[in-house]
Formats: sequence, structure tokens, C-alpha cells
Amino acid sequence: MSETVFGKIARGEMDADILYQDDEVVAFRDLNPQAPVHILIIPRKPIATLNDVSAEDAALIGRLFQVASMLAAREGVAEQGYRTVINCNAQGGQTVYHLHVHLLGGRALQWPPG
Ligand code: 5GP
Repeated sequence: MSETVFGKIARGEMDADILYQDDEVVAFRDLNPQAPVHILIIPRKPIATLNDVSAEDAALIGRLFQVASMLAAREGVAEQGYRTVINCNAQGGQTVYHLHVHLLGGRALQWPPG
């Protein structure tokens, strides 16, 4: 997999507003937020896209959403509601090829998305 900015953030080689990290997962604020709360949750493991997730990653993917839920509560948007999104490849809107969950909240979100 080619190097991405998220790999650099995960390794501490690039600055980010990190809200949570452990051995497997890092979460930080999006540089160009699309909602009052816009957080990216990534695995340290450099998985490029959702298409590249294997059976051995099942628990890791679960951890991403567990951290998203925890941060939604911490950011005060859990009760009002929020959205988690994984964009996959070009037509899915993916621009950074290191798997990430977007956590968006703090305003009413449109459905379906554009
Ligand atoms: P994607 O379009 O791949 O689903 O989402 C990539 C997200 O990463 C975008 O929302 C974009 O604003 C964010 N982003 C891109 N580069 C950086 C960066 O260097 N730092 C941070 N914190 N976010 C970034």
C-alpha cells in the first residue's frame, strides 16, 4: 500500500488533533470538517479500503465503531444523533487510501447523501 497522511498521523510523524489512541486505533479531528463534530477513526494497520478488509480484521473493524460510539458520547452528540461513514474508492468519495470511519454530528444530516 502506498504511504498516506493517515499513516504518518498514526505513527506520530504528522500533526493532528488526536482525541483517542491505543495500540490498534487512532482518532483525530478532520482537517476540513463537514459538521460541528467531524472525527476520523483509523486502524494503525494500513488497510487501504473497505475492500481490503479480511476475516482476521473483524475485531479491529468492530473496535473502530466502538471508539466512534465512545467519542460521540464524549463529544455530546450521542443522544441527538450522528452518522458514521466509510467511503470506498473513487465513486464512494474516498480520497485518502487508509481505511477510516468518519464520525459526523452536531447538526441535522441529510439523507440520502449527495
Ligand atoms: P475520504 O474522502 O477519504 O473519505 O476522507 C478523507 C478525509 O480526510 C477528508 O474529510 C479530509 O478532510 C481529511 N483529511 C485529509 N487530509 C488530512 C490531514 O492531513 N489531516 C486531517 N486531520 N484530515 C485530513
